[in-house]
Amino acid sequence: MQSFYDRFGLRKVINARGPATVLGASRVKDGIRQDIYDMLGLSVEMWELQRRANEAIVKLTGAEAGVAAGCTAAGMAISIAATLTGDDMGKIKELPIIRGPKHKVVIQKGHVIGIGDTPANQLIRLTGAEPVEIGEALDCASYHLEAALTPDVAAAVYVMMDVFPPNLLPFDKFVEICKSKGVPVIVDAAYDTDFRHSIAKGADLVVHSGQKWLGGATSALVAGRKDLVHACFLQELGIGRPMKVGKEGVLGLISAIEHWLARDEEAIIRQQEAFAERFIAAMAEVPGLTGSIKRTRFSPSVRVVMEIDEEQTGVPAWEINMKLGTGDPVIKMDDYAVYHGKMEFDLSFLDDGDERTIIKAIASIVEEKKKNGGAVRQPEPMNRLDLQYHTLRRWLDDNPRA
Ligand SMILES: *Cc1c(COP(=O)(O)O)cnc(C)c1O
Repeated sequence: MQSFYDRFGLRKVINARGPATVLGASRVKDGIRQDIYDMLGLSVEMWELQRRANEAIVKLTGAEAGVAAGCTAAGMAISIAATLTGDDMGKIKELPIIRGPKHKVVIQKGHVIGIGDTPANQLIRLTGAEPVEIGEALDCASYHLEAALTPDVAAAVYVMMDVFPPNLLPFDKFVEICKSKGVPVIVDAAYDTDFRHSIAKGADLVVHSGQKWLGGATSALVAGRKDLVHACFLQELGIGRPMKVGKEGVLGLISAIEHWLARDEEAIIRQQEAFAERFIAAMAEVPGLTGSIKRTRFSPSVRVVMEIDEEQTGVPAWEINMKLGTGDPVIKMDDYAVYHGKMEFDLSFLDDGDERTIIKAIASIVEEKKKNGGAVRQPEPMNRLDLQYHTLRRWLDDNPRA
């Protein structure tokens, strides 16, 4: 029988990276898919659906209120817009022109990352606000923030991730200083699986992805102060319109929250631990590969870190990564530390047997290199963004993966 992938002319993807937006985010579970399917066949008043989303978000996060948004980047944009306009419809209809003195948004320079793939400062500018980057790439001190919080600042943005240098401002300190100056704090917590943390620590608004760990359709949740959440919802009558969330996104988010709160976390972890053991054992069959287990708040899964000793494999990690990412099936993992000889495999979306497919693919890359040695053309070393662009810029041409 023709597979789904074949029918639509798609290459199969083994996703060990987790719910990355570029890989279609989460593999949505049956119960949630069924709810989305049912919703799509019906009509509904969107405000009422959003009212139910509010209840689910409050239950999940402990915030005063919540609203569903189109995606995390959209949630960040409407959150920033909300701090610029409040619920003043006149102001909402005029963005990105800002009437009134508060037009700046503060962010630590080290936090200017891709909100997804959109640079954080570009996302701030999209609302009409002026980004003010404070500190240096690797450091930010209290005095940087204190000096930046002038009366023309509308909000401060904080990104909740574990990839940052250690000497940026910790969240507690950031919130304390912003509170003392009356500046609302907006948190990008797209990947955070602790849905109560940012609110409990004093965030005014927090944005979590709906299509990443929660496992819904493309969406995000914005949670926080009721007045600001209300103002977020109203942005749909203004700049929020081109980033609006549909009924399938909102319903998917509600259903995903229900499933998240009811999930048997221990059973999932036990199953993933067994998978990790098989995976690590399989790695040991290829000289130069070693696996170990990692847990982080930024994934609910067991993750397996694979270290590649290039002396033994004869192939550097970046080359293995590149070849896995252009093979058939396409195999993707977290390649953030690939230049340090490490690849990280998230087990959430792997099926039993995928561990063998992955190791077999790596073994044949190593084998191939040994056989052909210097005869094959050395590919150019490419970092993760170059690699992504390499394919994307030729997506309509003959063979974008070449
Ligand atoms: C994925 C991600 C985003 C973007 O999420 P989208 O839903 O694709 O807009 C933003 N911020 C962080 C930290 C992310 O990891």
